[in-house]
Amino acid sequence: MNKSRITFYGGANGVTGSNFMLEDLSSGLEADNLKILVDCGLHQGNKIVENSNREPFNYNPQEIEALFVTHAHLDHIGRIPKLVRDGFRGKIYSTYPTKEIAELSLRDSLGVMEKEAKKDKHAIFYREEDIVKTMELWQGMDYHQSIKIGRFSVQFLDAGHILGSAMVEFTSGGKKTIFSGDLGNSPAPLLKPAEKISDVNYLLMESVYGDREHENKDSRRQHLKDIILSTMQAGGVLMIPAFSIERTQEILFEVENLMEASKIPLVPVFLDSPLAISITDIYRRYERYFNKEVKYIINNGDGIFHFPQLQQTRTTEESKEIAQRLGRKIIIAGSGMSNGGRILHHEKRYLPQKNNTLLIAGYQAAGSLGRLLSEGAKEVTIMGERIRVRSRIENLSAYSAHMDSTALSEYAGQTADTLEETFVVMGEPKSSLALVQRLKDEWAIKASSPNDGDSREIDF
Ligand SMILES: [Zn+2]
Repeated sequence: MNKSRITFYGGANGVTGSNFMLEDLSSGLEADNLKILVDCGLHQGNKIVENSNREPFNYNPQEIEALFVTHAHLDHIGRIPKLVRDGFRGKIYSTYPTKEIAELSLRDSLGVMEKEAKKDKHAIFYREEDIVKTMELWQGMDYHQSIKIGRFSVQFLDAGHILGSAMVEFTSGGKKTIFSGDLGNSPAPLLKPAEKISDVNYLLMESVYGDREHENKDSRRQHLKDIILSTMQAGGVLMIPAFSIERTQEILFEVENLMEASKIPLVPVFLDSPLAISITDIYRRYERYFNKEVKYIINNGDGIFHFPQLQQTRTTEESKEIAQRLGRKIIIAGSGMSNGGRILHHEKRYLPQKNNTLLIAGYQAAGSLGRLLSEGAKEVTIMGERIRVRSRIENLSAYSAHMDSTALSEYAGQTADTLEETFVVMGEPKSSLALVQRLKDEWAIKASSPNDGDSREIDF
């Protein structure tokens, strides 16, 4: 019987820092083990780049044969240039859009890291040249395109989380192991739902919302419309801190549809993030990844992410001019957790006024400004200044890009009959533990939530 080992190098004690190793133990000689990584992400908390990212890897990057990347969020890709800097020379595989978005995100986070490093007097842990080398090793693939690494056949399945997001499916000797990556909250405005899985023997799955349910998705468009309407009726500014990938494009798509259907006033909509603007350009080129409904709109000649009210402010000058435009407006800016980026300038300016609204539409990590605001803080510090929060704070969790607890349980449940073991990772400990319990109770699945540094041998 074949033997493999999964080691949880990152992403087992928390949501971020995803980094897992699959080793083929069948040679019997530790030194000969084929080593494959899935993801190599950044640890993120109240700072975009946490100090723990600077620590050396707990394995030798030179010994890694291949790295499979589930999707382009920084907590899944952010340490890849460091891996390359530290000697990795294998191949990197992902879907095509993941590769394109990753390059933009890595360059952007290098900029952020350089700024933070200057302030905190830290060394940066990769440089421009490492990104160039990384991209040379990186190969794009389509979903369901299979490649062979050692005795494993590997393919990507659509995870429906962000554009290009994928689960990684390994098969060998008639058995199947899946690394879920992050799983999308379907139906999503733009993407297809996560693919069905079956006949899986070993499953490593995310649990960001392992202990929570999202609000009803059918009413989210209505809820968004109501928030826009009430803010505009009050003559206010609607601020949306948005993740540059997916959330920004979903909100743009919804706002565009609401305006075209005359359901909200035609106020200026500022997309105030150079990264989000560039990523939206990538979305425009990958229409084939969208769901039926969006393809139908595109095929009828009505493009998406194009409407007269949309103003993309790439430069700092253009961004500063947003404040000069008095009156009602919608501002979409990063970062999504308000722990950096241009949204801070808008929050500082507009949070003290009662007629404005801050719309939080995604996961907010413990310790982030976004988390404080979403929990109702009345006073916060933004860029060194105490700011009174008088504007309305709204949470719209139905736009989350993650499956909620019930969806996660059903995801594993669909292949419960063949599952030998399930590893619940990528969640805050209480979320992971809640999901472990749920999988045991509802499906009698053998599940556990390992810790960072743990290894498990599997019959695979
Ligand atoms: Zn993600």
